[in-house]
Amino acid sequence: MSASFDSDATRRAGAILTVDLAAIAANWRGLRDAGRAVGHPVECAAVLKADAYGTGAAIVGPRLAAEGCRHFFVAHIEEGIALRAVVPDAPIYVLNGLLANTEPDFVEHGLTPVLNELGQLNAWRAAAQRYNRALDAVIHIDTGMHRLGFGPEEAQVLINERGRLRGLRLALLMSHLVVSEEPGNPVNGEQLSRFRTFVRAMPGAPASLANSSGIFLGPDYHFDLLRPGAALYGINPLPGQPNPMLSTVRLDVRILQTRVIDALQTVGYGAAWRSARPTRVATIALGYADGYFRNLVNRAHVHIAGRRVPVIGRISMDLVTIDVTEVPETACLPGATVEVLGEHTTAEDLADHARTNAYEIMTALGRRYARLYIDDRSESGP
Ligand SMILES: *Cc1c(COP(=O)(O)O)cnc(C)c1O
Repeated sequence: MSASFDSDATRRAGAILTVDLAAIAANWRGLRDAGRAVGHPVECAAVLKADAYGTGAAIVGPRLAAEGCRHFFVAHIEEGIALRAVVPDAPIYVLNGLLANTEPDFVEHGLTPVLNELGQLNAWRAAAQRYNRALDAVIHIDTGMHRLGFGPEEAQVLINERGRLRGLRLALLMSHLVVSEEPGNPVNGEQLSRFRTFVRAMPGAPASLANSSGIFLGPDYHFDLLRPGAALYGINPLPGQPNPMLSTVRLDVRILQTRVIDALQTVGYGAAWRSARPTRVATIALGYADGYFRNLVNRAHVHIAGRRVPVIGRISMDLVTIDVTEVPETACLPGATVEVLGEHTTAEDLADHARTNAYEIMTALGRRYARLYIDDRSESGP
């Protein structure tokens, strides 16, 4: 992935996030094809919540629609409204459900609520009556996550009283896996069997269970619609194994200033790092306000011209200091960029250092970065 930083926005930017749309599209096609391998038709949605995991839903959504994606999931209704403006005709499902008095917003913007309990179902049915239209509905069954979704008793009510769905078009039955990234965990099979029982009791509606890692649990988990988020953006759906997905983001940050300090001097707030030798320190335009977590202190690395460079001292709000003593001076002049995420450092690497997961690294990607979208289709044709 390469791009030049000559445009006005990137020339001024302290940090540039490059998003590779062709790689996201290729990841989507790869997951879709994994579903197609089953034998019966399986479609592949895209989960675009949290601004497409930090990559930019307003750009990624239309790009995936152009690639053939016909189903989109977001968490908040506001995310759905924003996505509807750029994806005019595919269903957009709102995972967080139907909040009181938002029915007109769903109808006006053509959004579909994921109904998480009977009260929401009743409210949506009443809306269908008021609008005199067969509104689309998604039913989310809780098979073990215990966050959102119809619990077992409410699910049984639905099975026994199908009339409760009258006036609605049942667009999808769904559930969500608890430990899909652990293929050996018996909880997967337990959830699968609960979901299967429910789907069999509600014939005629398409069903969806698998998130990114769930897709790799095999065809039993695929049903009719795959629901990946993370893997689209290059997060490894198989922790501990080689990542089958293409990486989709890189973050380049500019050096603002360099200085040479003597031995036994401290760098940054709290005097948390002390030089053992005369040291060349470079200060870069990145901080915890950009999602470079404060607990990366004295742990992470960046790369300059392929060379590994340690982060030293505390992470400030807007600044990070690095030890460039071993880097040729010409490679670390002010204005030069260092690679924070990319070829040498994955979101998983940063997550390990920050004691979190790659999802949090991605969704925390800073709002101050200049975002540069590249889409070299020749690189990743179907
Ligand atoms: C976030 C989410 C997904 C996508 O999960 P990934 O692990 O990112 O693929 C799918 N379904 C639901 C209900 C979700 O909340």
